[in-house]
Amino acid sequence: MPPGKHPANVGEVAIALKYRYADFNHYNFKDPLDELLFIICSTKTGEANYRASFEALKVAFPTPNQLAQATAEYIAKPIAVGGLSNRKSKAIRSLLDAIVANFGVLTLEPLREMSDRDAETFLTALPNVGKKVARCVMMYALDRKVFPVDTHCWRIARRLGWVRPSQKDRRCAPRDMDRLQSKIPPDLRYSLHVNMISLGREICTATAPRCEECPIAAWCPRIGVSRGKNKGGFN
Ligand code: SF4
Repeated sequence: MPPGKHPANVGEVAIALKYRYADFNHYNFKDPLDELLFIICSTKTGEANYRASFEALKVAFPTPNQLAQATAEYIAKPIAVGGLSNRKSKAIRSLLDAIVANFGVLTLEPLREMSDRDAETFLTALPNVGKKVARCVMMYALDRKVFPVDTHCWRIARRLGWVRPSQKDRRCAPRDMDRLQSKIPPDLRYSLHVNMISLGREICTATAPRCEECPIAAWCPRIGVSRGKNKGGFN
């Protein structure tokens, strides 16, 4: 399928997933700074712990000004519940420094006035922020019609045949994110992203997809594989 051409089944898949998962938003935020910090807290952490970690961070530093003045050592304390707190606190501190250096204060509100291209360029220039994180901030907090490709979206897109079959690399490189985004109609991007995460967590898991229960099995070319044609061959 050439880049930019929408998969024939994308609309039906989007409807079936929306019916099943109702666009559940996974607790993301409308404030772009909160959303960025929430994503950092969620790195390599289970949902309950990263939500508790972010809430503790907000209790410890209720205003952006208070957070802007905190050292990495102090930031590490409230987020300890989420694990990797030393690494995450240093990542947060370097992000805060970069944002303040650009805008003079700790805010990402100026992104609202930027084009998609400029907002993504700004975000991906921040330390440790790649396209996936940038597009999550843009989609959840700025209501931009982008398609962040996380591990669930990538896996399900591969299984649905939305990624070119010759692609051997299971890792999603930045150019792959662009190609996949170009194949998703803009009005379906938010819904497909949040609902593919729900599907990936519940049914289309990495190692043991439960295809018999899958709400989009009718459009999935891998359904035959799950029924024994290629045991263990999921990717
Ligand atoms: S049918 Fe199976 S492989 Fe295809 S999307 Fe559903 S769970 Fe995943």
